[in-house]
Amino acid sequence: MKTYRIAILPGDGIGPEVMTEGVKVLKALAEADSSFQLETTSFEWNSDYYLKHNRMMPEDGLSRLKDFDAIYFGAIGDRRVPEHIPIWELIMPIRKNFNQYVNLRPIKQLPGVKSPLHTKSPIDFYVFRENAEGEYSNMGGRLYQKTPDEMAVQNTVITKKGVQRLARYAFDYARKNSVTKVVNATKSNAIIHSMGLWDEVVKTTASEYPGIEVEDVYIDALAAHFVQRPESFEVVVASNLFGDILTDLGAALVGGLGLSPSANLNPEGDFPSMFEPIHGSAPDITGKQIANPIAQIWSAALMLEHLGREDLSAIVMKAIERVVESNTALTPDLKGNAKTFETGDAIVKQIYQQM
Ligand code: ATP
Ligand code: MG
Repeated sequence: MKTYRIAILPGDGIGPEVMTEGVKVLKALAEADSSFQLETTSFEWNSDYYLKHNRMMPEDGLSRLKDFDAIYFGAIGDRRVPEHIPIWELIMPIRKNFNQYVNLRPIKQLPGVKSPLHTKSPIDFYVFRENAEGEYSNMGGRLYQKTPDEMAVQNTVITKKGVQRLARYAFDYARKNSVTKVVNATKSNAIIHSMGLWDEVVKTTASEYPGIEVEDVYIDALAAHFVQRPESFEVVVASNLFGDILTDLGAALVGGLGLSPSANLNPEGDFPSMFEPIHGSAPDITGKQIANPIAQIWSAALMLEHLGREDLSAIVMKAIERVVESNTALTPDLKGNAKTFETGDAIVKQIYQQM
């Protein structure tokens, strides 16, 4: 029997509200299944912490996180703190230092959830977003400030190793799941250096996977295809920026941000992976108990899968599906009138019914 040590970072805004429900689900699993033991440690590294200490986490923050089995994250962001601070001082250091180079984002339409589009079959695919380099670099600068000639340069960093490891992960997933086509989001016709290398490496990596075809699709056309025929995708690989944009679009196609989980994966396992909903702290609905906790709970299902407990992950997913399909205990974003905790309670009830 293994005790899983999970670091909990609730964050800001609706983060702590949805995290309460995510932890409730994990504790219910631990109570119902004696082979699953849990030890959670909470870290209040959020915008309040920043306002007090002028930093997002303590100096030894990363070393305090590094030995956990996983990090379970809520959402971060607060109007009192400049927007780039939580990203560059908390989220990015965790992703980069812990080599969480795969950002896995399922775009999956649950039974009973309406898409704003009329599709022939349910939408169900995975976006593998590069998570450690790419367009989100802090290299660059501004010149000739406060003159009419002011200019800015922002560098994109694409490395052969960086693309290769992301592509391998996506192709491995494709092979394991009998997917025969991987769509590569690109723009190498206009962004010739960085996207040129990206395409080259995706292509050479694909040659290690006979039977899997790669289709390069320019990001502008791909955005249109997401709307015209989202049901046709199975696996998409994308750079940091392209993946970020595509997955918010994808989320909108399958019920919105309240239903969209993500995993920041370190496939080698030498550092913990991190699991979080793709939504932000949503200050407009904070404190009202109307946030949908499903994205947070679904992220826990991804965490359980990563920890090797596919059985428990499947139980959580089944519970989420039952609650969504029965159209009861849903929050206002899904046209219900339940409170955040009521959705969490309903999912826990469905978990106990399966165990
Ligand atoms: P941040 O700056 O942290 O990204 P944000 O204001 O951009 O926060 P998001 O969380 O990205 O807000 O989401 C945008 C909008 O989507 C929110 O204003 C909110 O109304 C809605 N939303 C996001 N998450 C949820 C959720 N879990 N349940 C219900 N509505 C949500
Ligand atoms: Mg946002």
